[in-house]
Amino acid sequence: MQTEGILSKMLLAFQTPIQVYAEAGAHLLHLNGQIGKPLALESTGTWTCKACQETFTSLFRMGCCKRCFFESPLAGDSILRPELSTAHLGQADRDLDYEARYQLQPHVVYLADSGGLKVGVTRHAQRHTRWMDQGASRVRVIAETTNRYEAGVIEVALKNHYSDKTSWRHMLAGVQSGENLAEEAQRASHFFPEEVARFFVPNGEEVTLTYPSDGAPKVTSVKLEAYQRLEGVLAGIRGQYLIFSDGRVINIRAHEGAHVRWTV
Ligand SMILES: [Zn+2]
Repeated sequence: MQTEGILSKMLLAFQTPIQVYAEAGAHLLHLNGQIGKPLALESTGTWTCKACQETFTSLFRMGCCKRCFFESPLAGDSILRPELSTAHLGQADRDLDYEARYQLQPHVVYLADSGGLKVGVTRHAQRHTRWMDQGASRVRVIAETTNRYEAGVIEVALKNHYSDKTSWRHMLAGVQSGENLAEEAQRASHFFPEEVARFFVPNGEEVTLTYPSDGAPKVTSVKLEAYQRLEGVLAGIRGQYLIFSDGRVINIRAHEGAHVRWTV
């Protein structure tokens, strides 16, 4: 079957194992069922910016054209750096209405084992999606805050003790650092700044995530350039990565906005 559409983040359903769907135009492809089978992705050479919805021959960053990357609230400072949130002060970065909706809602700070122990921040309602997208093996919530800024302040302090990046090679290899997350949470609580110490949760949610496939020890990351066709046997899926049987991997999220033709 062939179907065309604009690539967006794959939809990961919080089940055991995680179920993965790709939106492709009018179709929703259930990719768990494609493992072990041939799959091709072909770029048609055009891209759609997720902010202005205009079409370009390339995008700049974060699924946005250059203008939107610098002007749209979808690429504002608080997205990647929660501590720069200002909506709780009534101050706009780019669009206060959007930022208030995004920032002024419950957030969590978590420790994740995703090829190494890391700290992260996400919206409470979005947490399972975020952890699955990152390809984390195990996650534990260590703080529940009322907004994004408070979570960002905790994260900044914890960055002195934990990484805030996912090592994608280790993550794809299924490496686990194996710490006891309950003990790590207690250790982390000592690093909370005093003004946000009350947000620590000693009995935070802890989850183990199971992906549709085992790890891939040796991988090469590939990009889908204009008019290129990426074809192979789908060997696995972890986080937002498709893993082919020859070790090539593609980060679907990094290709958000690309117009592609799927063949399954
Ligand atoms: Zn744009």
